[in-house]
Amino acid sequence: MRIVILGGGVMGITTAYYLAADGHEAVVIDRQAQAGLEASYANAGLIAPGHVYAWASPRAPFILLQSLWRDDSALKFRLKADPHMWAWALRFLANCTAERNRANTLRKLSLCLYSQNELAVLRRETNIDYDGTEAGLLYLYRDPAHFELGKANMRLLQDHGLSLHAVDADRVAELEPALASAKQKLTGAIYAPGDESGDCLKFTQGLAAAAARLGVELRMDHVVRRLEHDGARILGVDTDKGRVEGEAYVLALGSFSPILARQIGLSLPVYPVKGYSITLPIIEPKEAPRIGGVDEDHLVAYATLGDRLRLTATADFAGYDTSFAAGDFAGMVRISRELFPHAAAYDEPDYWACLRPMTPDGPPILGRCKFTNLYLNTGQGHMGWTMAAGCARILADLIGRRTPAIDIAGLTLDRY
Ligand SMILES: Cc1cc2nc3c(=O)[nH]c(=O)nc-3n(C[C@H](O)[C@H](O)[C@H](O)COP(=O)(O)OP(=O)(O)OC[C@H]3O[C@@H](n4cnc5c(N)ncnc54)[C@H](O)[C@@H]3O)c2cc1C
Repeated sequence: MRIVILGGGVMGITTAYYLAADGHEAVVIDRQAQAGLEASYANAGLIAPGHVYAWASPRAPFILLQSLWRDDSALKFRLKADPHMWAWALRFLANCTAERNRANTLRKLSLCLYSQNELAVLRRETNIDYDGTEAGLLYLYRDPAHFELGKANMRLLQDHGLSLHAVDADRVAELEPALASAKQKLTGAIYAPGDESGDCLKFTQGLAAAAARLGVELRMDHVVRRLEHDGARILGVDTDKGRVEGEAYVLALGSFSPILARQIGLSLPVYPVKGYSITLPIIEPKEAPRIGGVDEDHLVAYATLGDRLRLTATADFAGYDTSFAAGDFAGMVRISRELFPHAAAYDEPDYWACLRPMTPDGPPILGRCKFTNLYLNTGQGHMGWTMAAGCARILADLIGRRTPAIDIAGLTLDRY
C-alpha cells in the first residue's frame, strides 16, 4: 500500500521505517530541510518511564494558578484569549482527580515500557549510534518533604512493573560520581536503573537514512497546506510543491497536527507547551554526568550526549511562539552549575526552544479517526522520544490489520 506520512520528526520517521519494513511504499513529507528539526531536535534526551507521571494531577491546578504570579516557576501559564488553550485547559482540569491521574499515568507507563523494548529491537536491527546510555536515570530531590512525596508516588509505578529505588545522597554520589561535590544539597534520589538517555535527533536522522535504504521517499522542504477529502476518505495532500496522493495517510505533525486536522473538521485536543534547552560542550568528562536525570525541585533535566551536556526546563503556555532570549535559560544554567560546576563550557551555550505536543490527559492520540484512511500518531507531549518506537509500532500494526501488542484503550481519539 502507498502511505503518505505527514511529519518527519521522531514520530513520522519511526512510523515510516516500520511501514517500509512491512513492505509498504512510504512517503514522508516535512517542511524542514532534514528530519527531526522541530520538537525532536534538542529535547532532554531522557528515555524515562520513571518520569511518566501524567501532568494533570490533584496538585496541578494550584501549580498553574501559582505560576500566574511567580516569575521563577518551572511552569508558566499565561492568561491568553486563545479559545483552543481554554478548551484544552478545561479538559486538563477535568483530568486532575487522583483517579484520572492514576489511570492516565498507567496508560502512559504501559506504552513507555513497550516502547523501550521496541527501541532496543530497533537499536539491534539498525545499529544507529545516537549517543545512547543505558545506565538508568536519577531523579534528584533536595527538599525532604518533596522526596517523601516522590517516594509515595513511585509506588504506583513499582506496583506496575517498573524498577525504582529510593537512595540517599551518599548512594547518589556512588551512582553518579560527578554529583559528589553537590551531595550536601541533596536529600536523595529515585534511581530508575532501566531508564536510558540518548540523542533523539541523531536517532531520528539515523533512522531516516535507514528508512531511505528501505525505499522510503523523504520529501523534505515541502509545506503541507491542506488535506483534501470526500467526507469519508482523504484523497490527497496539497503541499507548496504540488499534490501527493496515497491509499492511507498518517498525521504526525507534532504540535501542528491539530491545525491541519481542524481544517477537515477533526478536533484534536493537542496544545503546544514550549520548552527550552541548552547544549554545552563538555570540557571535563569526569565532571559530567554519566547518568542523566532531573533535578525534581527545579524541574531541570540533564543528560550527557556524547561530548555535549544537554539541559532542558520549563513548560511555557506561549501558544505557537518558539522565540527565546538568553534570560530564559538562566535558571537551568544556575542549577547545572550547582550540580556539575566544572563539567561544561557554560560560556558556549547553544540555545533552543520548541513545542511539546501535549494532550490534556497525557497519553498520545493513536490510530483511526472518522476518515477511514487517516491514522493519527500525535500528542506524545513531554515523552515523545520515550514513546516513539512503541507508538510507531502500534500504528504499523493497525495499518497492517494486526492487533497491537498492548491494549490501546485510552490511547485513541474516541476517548474525548
Ligand atoms: C524542551 C523539551 C524537552 C523534552 N524532553 C524529552 C525527553 O527527555 N524525553 C522524551 O521522551 N521526550 C521529550 N520531549 C518531547 C519530545 O521531544 C516530543 O514529544 C517529540 O519530539 C515529538 O515528536 P513529533 O515527531 O511528534 O514532533 P516533531 O519532532 O515536532 O515533528 C513534527 C514534524 O512536522 C513537521 N511539520 C509541522 N507542520 C508542518 C507542515 N504544515 N508541513 C510540513 N511539515 C510540517 C515539522 O517540521 C516537524 O518535523 C521534550 C520536548 C521538549 C520541547
